[in-house]
Amino acid sequence: MRCPAVPYHEAAPRAEVEKICAEHGLSYKRDAYGNVIVRLQTAPKQRPFVLAAHLDHPGFEIVRRLGKGRWLGQFLGGVPDTYFRRGIPLRLMPGALPAKLGRRVGSKRQFEILAKPTDATSPQFAVWELEDFAVRQQHIHSRACDDLGGVAAILAAMIELKRKRARVNVIGVISRAEEVGFHGALAVAAAGELPKNSLVISLETSRELPPVKMGQGVIIRVGDRTSIFDSTATRFLMEVAAKRKRQSKTFQSQRALMYGGTCEATAYQEVGLQTAAVCVALGNYHNCADDNKIAAEYVSVADACGMVDLLVAASREMRNYSRLTGKLPAQLNKMLRAARRRLSR
Ligand SMILES: [Zn+2]
Repeated sequence: MRCPAVPYHEAAPRAEVEKICAEHGLSYKRDAYGNVIVRLQTAPKQRPFVLAAHLDHPGFEIVRRLGKGRWLGQFLGGVPDTYFRRGIPLRLMPGALPAKLGRRVGSKRQFEILAKPTDATSPQFAVWELEDFAVRQQHIHSRACDDLGGVAAILAAMIELKRKRARVNVIGVISRAEEVGFHGALAVAAAGELPKNSLVISLETSRELPPVKMGQGVIIRVGDRTSIFDSTATRFLMEVAAKRKRQSKTFQSQRALMYGGTCEATAYQEVGLQTAAVCVALGNYHNCADDNKIAAEYVSVADACGMVDLLVAASREMRNYSRLTGKLPAQLNKMLRAARRRLSR
């Protein structure tokens, strides 16, 4: 979270991801489009369990220099117009040059970005000047919880599985340019990079919307603004969560349609992969706080840890997928026999 990124400019957090993988002996590679694919395949014959999250966050891409200390920035990502107020502090990257938002130029969400005149830098993008990372009162505050929380959850789960020498087949897909219409995920899905029998879980931080409550556990996300995800795969996650609740006094989970945005699950599902989704509730979604103020996002530490817990457990339960998802049909069959007896009498 110390490494700012916007769509198409994700090199810095991606380097962190690759460093963490190398430190923990997780094998990884970049695909042709610069997405990172991480593998932990200690039981390669098991059905692949794919965990997907993205590196980028809404921000400004520099289009061109306008003059001394003045650049034209194109905003990429979903932030309502009312939030773009002149004078908001920005950070020009690379170099972390202090800057501020100038006037709007034209109708395409382009803005002047103003900094101290300097010849030394040629900035590529700019982000809101907000705190990189802090933990206060059980919450993580950061410019970009979305979706570095998801990325961190993938790495934490895979590191934990490796440490426990778990017999799993997990593939992490850490993608680029989600905020402009999941470009990275579309490229991964279309490339046939993932085996056709994969179960894909899209991981997000997602705007806190009723009925979910921040701090009340990881969310099994039944759908997004665009799609409803696979019912059987969702039930699998519910079975895993129920088992974790029986085993642990502190584990909590919620189940909800998170309709605030469209997530990568829609991209994976549309190419025919079985797909479900998991998220944690997000405050100040896309840095949008009350009164049209730009502020850091935040998530609950317990929810974030709960997400890792659920992913670790689900990775290990993939070998029991048929048994866990077969419980409901078996129960319905039993009910059918009773129903026929009673109804025909
Ligand atoms: Zn987002």
